[in-house]
Amino acid sequence: MMRISNSSFCLFQNRIRPQLAKEKIEGCHICTSVTPGEPQVFLGKDKAFTFDYVFNIDSQQEEIYIQCIEKLIEGCFEGYNATVFAYGQTGAGKTYTMGTGFDVNITEEEQGIISRAVKHLFRCIEEKKQAAIKQGLPPPDFKVNAQFLELYNEEILDLFDTTRDIDAKNKKSNIKIHEDSAGGIYTVGVTTRTVNGESEMMQCLKLGALSRTTASTQMNVQSSRSHAIFTIHLCQTRVCPDNATDNRIISESSEMNEFETLTAKFHFVDLAGSERLKRTGATGERAKEGISINCGLLALGNVISALGDKSKKATHVPYRDSKLTRLLQDSLGGNSQTLMIACVSPSDRDFMETLNTLKYANRARNIKNKVVVNQDRASQQINALRSEITRLQMELMEYKTGKRIIDEEGVESINDMFHENAMLQTENNNLRVRIKAMQETIDALRARITQLMSDQANQVLARAGEGNEEISNMIHNYIKEIEDLRAKLLESEAVNENLRRNLSRASARSTYFGGPSAFSASMLSSEKETMDILDIAKKDLEKLKKKERKKKKRWCMNYNAICFLFISKEVYFFNH
Ligand code: ADP
Ligand code: MG
Repeated sequence: MMRISNSSFCLFQNRIRPQLAKEKIEGCHICTSVTPGEPQVFLGKDKAFTFDYVFNIDSQQEEIYIQCIEKLIEGCFEGYNATVFAYGQTGAGKTYTMGTGFDVNITEEEQGIISRAVKHLFRCIEEKKQAAIKQGLPPPDFKVNAQFLELYNEEILDLFDTTRDIDAKNKKSNIKIHEDSAGGIYTVGVTTRTVNGESEMMQCLKLGALSRTTASTQMNVQSSRSHAIFTIHLCQTRVCPDNATDNRIISESSEMNEFETLTAKFHFVDLAGSERLKRTGATGERAKEGISINCGLLALGNVISALGDKSKKATHVPYRDSKLTRLLQDSLGGNSQTLMIACVSPSDRDFMETLNTLKYANRARNIKNKVVVNQDRASQQINALRSEITRLQMELMEYKTGKRIIDEEGVESINDMFHENAMLQTENNNLRVRIKAMQETIDALRARITQLMSDQANQVLARAGEGNEEISNMIHNYIKEIEDLRAKLLESEAVNENLRRNLSRASARSTYFGGPSAFSASMLSSEKETMDILDIAKKDLEKLKKKERKKKKRWCMNYNAICFLFISKEVYFFNH
């Protein structure tokens, strides 16, 4: 088994239990597989999940203990808290792995994590005492006590409380969770058992487990819906290890020793079944139950995910979202070690729940991208993608610069798209310059015409002896306006002419294709629009004429004659 990293505070393990006899009889197939030499599990053919450790069907309880738990117990002697979770659907092997069932019939080999940890703990205590004596040091003093809680429906139950009324399932317990000034979490109203040895501890645990099972038969599979939290507190008073060597010399002579007290908590958590509450019949209490269990599991996932996400350093860790995370607050993150064991069934019948369990662990682990197993295939794919990128870059460059290209048939040709584009752009710019120059010429010519005409009119007036400067200015302005209008008129005439031509071409085409069509209908409507525009233009012209006539009357009769001449010319032009 390969270990990926130990830098994170939480390690993730996946354990696949063997198929049960029932599953074999019912013909269930195995849908999980483990990549040899890699801590990776495959669900079906293509769903791969990576863990820190993966234990396949044939793995033994001892293996799991030695690989993952042993060092956590050793850490407790250095003052580090530790938490081990068993997560997964009901029947996936959480209780078996954790050993919370305390089945009297199981063999030594089948013993779960807790029994092994307790044994290990007391063995270590003995060893440490002996080692100190051998070194001539005062032996360290150890105090071990234990708590066994059950969290059901966001309610804390004390499994060590022998006076507990298991019938009163709705009775609220008086257990409270508090936080001390140093951020430590402690409970009030929980039975704490001080234990002096392995057998005493195991006796306590068996009684607690019995209390849980008795309750569960009465409370309808409560055990699968509740979290069981077994906690060992270790308090150690020892000679400071830094000074141990010096102290020995001193102690021999002066008996002066520096002592330190270390405390550590070890939580073993057999979580509630992660299966989704069945939709049918999930009403009232049952639904509430399901929701609050999910809230514990959900909050736990979020807490682990928030703690492990290095990208968001100052984020809020949602410990208070559930009793479970609140209770374990000081043992998650910080300098404590956490192990999450994702227990799964190998049978295809449980495929969806197994997928959910693996996904939950991956989400909590902040794994965003799936690791591809086959390294060869992965690099092959990367290479293929790289060459694809190069090919596309080449193509893009060719289009931009018009280089030589080889088409699909292997014929070499020159792509002149680039040159053609450049030529068209130059031509476009030249035309733009010409249009501007032409427009300027038109403006100049129009100004000249205006000047000539007003001079002409002034001459007529002078001859009649009626000219003065004011009138000549007025005439000049009017002529200018008329010229501007004439230009506009010519322009709209040209546009109209084009439209008319298009229309006749289109109607000719529609008769050719036979009968009225959507196309001809649209053309008809555009014809109507043209006629409307022409009507409006005529009316405007009429108005202008009237206006001008009125003004002209007031100013001078001769000028009126000139204007009339121009306007009638325009009307003639417009109507033909
Ligand atoms: P959970 O606590 O997740 O509901 P259990 O631990 O009760 O599941 O396991 C369900 C059944 O599978 C039990 O009968 C248990 O003995 C068996 N089982 C689980 N894991 C293993 C394993 N690794 N080896 C053999 N039997 C197992
Ligand atoms: Mg169980």
